[in-house]
Amino acid sequence: MMASIREAVRVVSKAVIAKKILLTDLDQAIGDGDHGINMARGFESVLKKIDLLEENTDAALILKTVGMGLISSVGGAAGPLYGTAFLRASAVCKNKSEIDLATAQAMLDAAIKGIQDRGKAQKGEKTMLDALIPASEAFSAGTKNKKNILQCLNDAVKAAQKGVEYTKTIIATKGRASYLAERSIGHEDPGAVSSAIMLEALYNYLK
Ligand code: ADP
Ligand code: MG
Repeated sequence: MMASIREAVRVVSKAVIAKKILLTDLDQAIGDGDHGINMARGFESVLKKIDLLEENTDAALILKTVGMGLISSVGGAAGPLYGTAFLRASAVCKNKSEIDLATAQAMLDAAIKGIQDRGKAQKGEKTMLDALIPASEAFSAGTKNKKNILQCLNDAVKAAQKGVEYTKTIIATKGRASYLAERSIGHEDPGAVSSAIMLEALYNYLK
Protein backbone atom coordinates (compact mmCIF):
# COMPACT_ATOMS: atom_id res chain seq x y z
CA MET A 1 0.00 0.00 0.00
CA MET A 2 1.78 3.10 -1.22
CA ALA A 3 -0.75 5.48 0.25
CA SER A 4 0.29 7.54 3.25
CA ILE A 5 -0.92 6.23 6.58
CA ARG A 6 -0.72 9.71 8.01
CA GLU A 7 -2.98 11.08 5.29
CA ALA A 8 -5.35 8.13 5.77
CA VAL A 9 -5.56 8.95 9.48
CA ARG A 10 -6.32 12.58 8.65
CA VAL A 11 -9.10 11.59 6.25
CA VAL A 12 -10.63 9.14 8.73
CA SER A 13 -10.41 11.70 11.56
CA LYS A 14 -12.12 14.37 9.50
CA ALA A 15 -14.84 11.95 8.37
CA VAL A 16 -15.66 11.11 12.00
CA ILE A 17 -15.58 14.77 13.06
CA ALA A 18 -17.94 15.62 10.17
CA LYS A 19 -20.49 13.13 11.55
CA LYS A 20 -20.43 14.54 15.09
CA ILE A 21 -24.10 15.52 15.08
CA LEU A 22 -25.33 12.28 13.52
CA LEU A 23 -23.38 10.18 16.04
CA THR A 24 -24.61 12.27 18.93
CA ASP A 25 -28.23 12.03 17.73
CA LEU A 26 -27.93 8.24 17.50
CA ASP A 27 -26.50 8.08 21.01
CA GLN A 28 -29.28 10.39 22.22
CA ALA A 29 -31.79 7.72 21.24
CA ILE A 30 -30.24 4.79 23.12
CA GLY A 31 -27.41 6.19 25.23
CA ASP A 32 -26.39 9.48 26.79
CA GLY A 33 -25.98 11.51 23.61
CA ASP A 34 -22.24 12.01 23.69
CA HIS A 35 -20.82 9.58 21.12
CA GLY A 36 -20.36 12.27 18.45
CA ILE A 37 -18.91 14.68 20.99
CA ASN A 38 -16.54 12.01 22.32
CA MET A 39 -15.41 10.90 18.88
CA ALA A 40 -14.96 14.44 17.57
CA ARG A 41 -12.94 15.41 20.63
CA GLY A 42 -10.80 12.31 20.25
CA PHE A 43 -10.06 12.77 16.59
CA GLU A 44 -9.45 16.53 16.94
CA SER A 45 -6.77 15.56 19.44
CA VAL A 46 -5.44 12.90 17.05
CA LEU A 47 -5.17 15.45 14.22
CA LYS A 48 -3.09 17.74 16.43
CA LYS A 49 -0.86 14.90 17.65
CA ILE A 50 -0.06 13.43 14.24
CA ASP A 51 0.87 16.87 12.90
CA LEU A 52 3.66 16.96 15.48
CA LEU A 53 5.25 13.72 14.24
CA GLU A 54 8.26 13.86 11.94
CA GLU A 55 7.70 13.56 8.21
CA ASN A 56 9.06 10.01 7.87
CA THR A 57 7.33 8.53 10.93
CA ASP A 58 6.40 4.89 10.27
CA ALA A 59 2.88 3.46 10.23
CA ALA A 60 3.27 1.77 13.61
CA LEU A 61 4.13 5.00 15.42
CA ILE A 62 1.40 6.93 13.63
CA LEU A 63 -1.22 4.34 14.66
CA LYS A 64 0.16 4.21 18.18
CA THR A 65 -0.21 7.99 18.36
CA VAL A 66 -3.83 7.65 17.24
CA GLY A 67 -4.52 5.02 19.91
CA MET A 68 -2.88 6.95 22.71
CA GLY A 69 -4.60 10.13 21.55
CA LEU A 70 -8.04 8.53 21.70
CA ILE A 71 -7.43 6.90 25.07
CA SER A 72 -6.15 10.10 26.64
CA SER A 73 -8.76 12.49 25.25
CA VAL A 74 -12.04 10.54 25.29
CA GLY A 75 -13.98 9.84 28.46
CA GLY A 76 -16.73 7.57 27.09
CA ALA A 77 -16.59 3.83 26.49
CA ALA A 78 -15.80 4.11 22.80
CA GLY A 79 -12.58 6.14 23.20
CA PRO A 80 -10.61 3.52 25.12
CA LEU A 81 -12.10 0.75 22.97
CA TYR A 82 -11.10 2.40 19.69
CA GLY A 83 -7.82 3.50 21.27
CA THR A 84 -6.99 -0.10 22.15
CA ALA A 85 -7.94 -1.14 18.62
CA PHE A 86 -5.45 1.32 17.10
CA LEU A 87 -2.71 0.29 19.54
CA ARG A 88 -3.16 -3.38 18.64
CA ALA A 89 -3.15 -2.58 14.91
CA SER A 90 0.01 -0.56 15.47
CA ALA A 91 1.74 -3.52 17.13
CA VAL A 92 0.94 -5.73 14.11
CA CYS A 93 2.48 -3.40 11.54
CA LYS A 94 5.60 -2.68 13.59
CA ASN A 95 8.74 -3.24 11.46
CA LYS A 96 6.65 -3.97 8.37
CA SER A 97 7.81 -1.96 5.37
CA GLU A 98 4.51 -2.40 3.57
CA ILE A 99 0.92 -3.05 4.63
CA ASP A 100 -0.05 -5.90 2.32
CA LEU A 101 -3.29 -7.88 2.36
CA ALA A 102 -2.20 -10.31 5.06
CA THR A 103 -0.93 -7.49 7.27
CA ALA A 104 -4.13 -5.49 6.78
CA GLN A 105 -6.20 -8.54 7.77
CA ALA A 106 -4.02 -9.15 10.81
CA MET A 107 -4.33 -5.48 11.83
CA LEU A 108 -8.12 -5.60 11.56
CA ASP A 109 -8.32 -8.82 13.55
CA ALA A 110 -5.94 -7.54 16.23
CA ALA A 111 -8.02 -4.37 16.51
CA ILE A 112 -11.19 -6.42 17.04
CA LYS A 113 -9.43 -8.67 19.56
CA GLY A 114 -8.34 -5.54 21.46
CA ILE A 115 -11.91 -4.25 21.61
CA GLN A 116 -13.08 -7.64 22.86
CA ASP A 117 -10.31 -7.98 25.44
CA ARG A 118 -11.25 -4.62 26.82
CA GLY A 119 -15.04 -4.55 26.42
CA LYS A 120 -15.86 -8.26 26.72
CA ALA A 121 -18.55 -8.05 24.04
CA GLN A 122 -19.35 -10.60 21.36
CA LYS A 123 -21.07 -10.31 18.00
CA GLY A 124 -24.81 -9.64 18.37
CA GLU A 125 -24.65 -7.40 21.45
CA LYS A 126 -25.41 -4.21 19.47
CA THR A 127 -21.96 -2.61 19.57
CA MET A 128 -19.24 -1.45 17.20
CA LEU A 129 -18.30 -5.13 16.90
CA ASP A 130 -21.45 -5.75 14.88
CA ALA A 131 -19.94 -3.59 12.15
CA LEU A 132 -16.29 -4.60 12.63
CA ILE A 133 -16.58 -8.39 12.86
CA PRO A 134 -18.65 -8.73 9.65
CA ALA A 135 -16.21 -6.30 8.01
CA SER A 136 -13.29 -8.52 8.97
CA GLU A 137 -15.13 -11.62 7.76
CA ALA A 138 -15.88 -9.99 4.41
CA PHE A 139 -12.29 -8.81 4.10
CA SER A 140 -11.08 -12.33 4.78
CA ALA A 141 -13.52 -13.84 2.24
CA GLY A 142 -12.24 -11.33 -0.31
CA THR A 143 -8.62 -12.34 0.23
CA LYS A 144 -9.56 -15.99 -0.25
CA ASN A 145 -11.24 -15.07 -3.54
CA LYS A 146 -8.00 -13.41 -4.64
CA LYS A 147 -9.42 -9.92 -4.58
CA ASN A 148 -7.05 -6.97 -4.17
CA ILE A 149 -6.85 -4.90 -1.02
CA LEU A 150 -9.20 -2.22 -2.32
CA GLN A 151 -11.85 -4.74 -3.35
CA CYS A 152 -11.54 -6.47 0.01
CA LEU A 153 -11.94 -3.16 1.79
CA ASN A 154 -14.97 -2.32 -0.33
CA ASP A 155 -16.54 -5.64 0.70
CA ALA A 156 -15.65 -4.86 4.31
CA VAL A 157 -17.36 -1.46 4.12
CA LYS A 158 -20.53 -3.01 2.72
CA ALA A 159 -20.51 -5.68 5.42
CA ALA A 160 -20.06 -3.01 8.10
CA GLN A 161 -23.02 -1.07 6.71
CA LYS A 162 -25.14 -4.22 6.73
CA GLY A 163 -23.95 -4.76 10.29
CA VAL A 164 -25.24 -1.30 11.19
CA GLU A 165 -28.65 -2.24 9.76
CA TYR A 166 -28.55 -5.45 11.79
CA THR A 167 -27.95 -3.51 15.02
CA LYS A 168 -31.42 -1.98 14.57
CA THR A 169 -32.97 -5.40 14.98
CA ILE A 170 -31.24 -6.50 18.19
CA ILE A 171 -31.25 -5.66 21.89
CA ALA A 172 -28.19 -4.03 23.42
CA THR A 173 -26.59 -6.17 26.11
CA LYS A 174 -23.39 -4.14 26.57
CA GLY A 175 -22.79 -0.47 27.32
CA ARG A 176 -25.32 2.19 28.28
CA ALA A 177 -27.84 1.12 25.63
CA SER A 178 -28.31 -2.14 27.55
CA TYR A 179 -30.24 -0.18 30.21
CA LEU A 180 -33.00 0.25 27.62
CA ALA A 181 -33.37 -3.49 26.94
CA GLU A 182 -36.19 -3.99 24.33
CA ARG A 183 -36.45 -0.25 23.82
CA SER A 184 -33.06 -0.30 22.12
CA ILE A 185 -34.66 -2.16 19.19
CA GLY A 186 -35.28 -0.03 16.11
CA HIS A 187 -32.20 2.11 16.63
CA GLU A 188 -28.77 1.85 15.02
CA ASP A 189 -25.88 1.43 17.42
CA PRO A 190 -23.80 4.64 17.40
CA GLY A 191 -20.50 2.78 17.69
CA ALA A 192 -21.38 0.49 14.80
CA VAL A 193 -22.12 3.60 12.76
CA SER A 194 -18.80 5.27 13.69
CA SER A 195 -16.95 2.07 12.75
CA ALA A 196 -18.63 1.97 9.35
CA ILE A 197 -17.82 5.67 8.84
CA MET A 198 -14.12 5.01 9.54
CA LEU A 199 -13.91 2.04 7.18
CA GLU A 200 -15.77 3.91 4.45
CA ALA A 201 -13.50 6.94 4.80
CA LEU A 202 -10.43 4.70 4.55
CA TYR A 203 -11.84 3.06 1.42
CA ASN A 204 -12.69 6.41 -0.18
CA TYR A 205 -9.18 7.65 0.53
CA LEU A 206 -7.47 4.56 -0.90
CA LYS A 207 -9.55 4.23 -4.04
P1 ADP B 1 -20.53 5.91 26.50
O1 ADP B 1 -21.36 4.67 26.27
O2 ADP B 1 -19.60 5.78 27.67
O3 ADP B 1 -21.37 7.14 26.54
P2 ADP B 1 -19.89 6.45 23.73
O4 ADP B 1 -21.25 7.04 23.66
O5 ADP B 1 -18.79 7.27 23.18
O6 ADP B 1 -19.55 6.03 25.23
O7 ADP B 1 -19.86 5.08 22.94
C1 ADP B 1 -20.97 4.22 22.88
C2 ADP B 1 -20.66 3.07 21.93
O8 ADP B 1 -19.62 2.28 22.48
C3 ADP B 1 -21.82 2.12 21.73
O9 ADP B 1 -22.66 2.56 20.68
C4 ADP B 1 -21.13 0.80 21.41
O10 ADP B 1 -20.94 0.62 20.02
C5 ADP B 1 -19.78 0.95 22.05
N1 ADP B 1 -19.63 0.08 23.21
C6 ADP B 1 -20.07 0.28 24.47
N2 ADP B 1 -19.71 -0.74 25.27
C7 ADP B 1 -19.02 -1.62 24.48
C8 ADP B 1 -18.37 -2.87 24.71
N3 ADP B 1 -18.34 -3.43 25.93
N4 ADP B 1 -17.76 -3.47 23.67
C9 ADP B 1 -17.76 -2.90 22.45
N5 ADP B 1 -18.35 -1.72 22.17
C10 ADP B 1 -18.98 -1.09 23.17
MG1 MG C 1 -22.56 7.80 25.02
